[in-house]
Amino acid sequence: MNIVLLGAPGAGKGTQAEKIVEKYALCHISTGDILRQAVKDQTPLGVKAKGYMDSGNLVPDELIIDLMKERMQQPDTEKGVMLDGFPRTTAQAVALDGMLADLERPLDAALLVDVPFDVIIGRLTSRRQCRACGHIGTAADAVCPSCGGEMYQRDDDNEATVRNRLEVYSNQTSPLIDYYTGQDKLVTVDGNRAPDVVFADVVEKLGIA
Ligand code: AMP
Repeated sequence: MNIVLLGAPGAGKGTQAEKIVEKYALCHISTGDILRQAVKDQTPLGVKAKGYMDSGNLVPDELIIDLMKERMQQPDTEKGVMLDGFPRTTAQAVALDGMLADLERPLDAALLVDVPFDVIIGRLTSRRQCRACGHIGTAADAVCPSCGGEMYQRDDDNEATVRNRLEVYSNQTSPLIDYYTGQDKLVTVDGNRAPDVVFADVVEKLGIA
């Protein structure tokens, strides 16, 4: 099974991705996590990406498409992928269609986790992430509830950057909703509910119980 996760930043894509890959043993690929690691390691990709990420803008398509072409060749993707944060532009979606066609793998669904923007602003500014395992929690988590690691606030989760990221999402990423509707691949869940309730809906709508 190969799935694309769509939704505004803070809609809960990462949380649903964690649950889906755990249950269905898919390979979880988060371009945001790959880029944050590259920035931390100061690789050439990380050095190029940092400025875009800090301001809440998208990293240029060529960088992301090259990164994903390479990542999709790794053997762990053969069991199926959960793409979290990619594609984010129509050019990336077209490139992904080409990659999957070359690999002779179908895209099963584009899963949209739908949450109103006013809810998202509150969620993102109180979001915290585990430095050790990447688990996503809130400001109420003193340590990671999953592994006990240190929780931190992402640099791009401040209110000004959050507003810019939502604008970028509206302008550049939301056209993908029509793109995947046109391919008859779009599955929408209401993400403004408790994570387990959203997940139960995901399982039912994807027909993968
Ligand atoms: P995320 O963790 O998915 O919210 O991604 C954090 C940041 O990484 C985004 O605000 C972008 O700057 C960058 N990024 C992640 N995925 C992509 C992508 N597919 N295309 C362009 N930029 C991306």
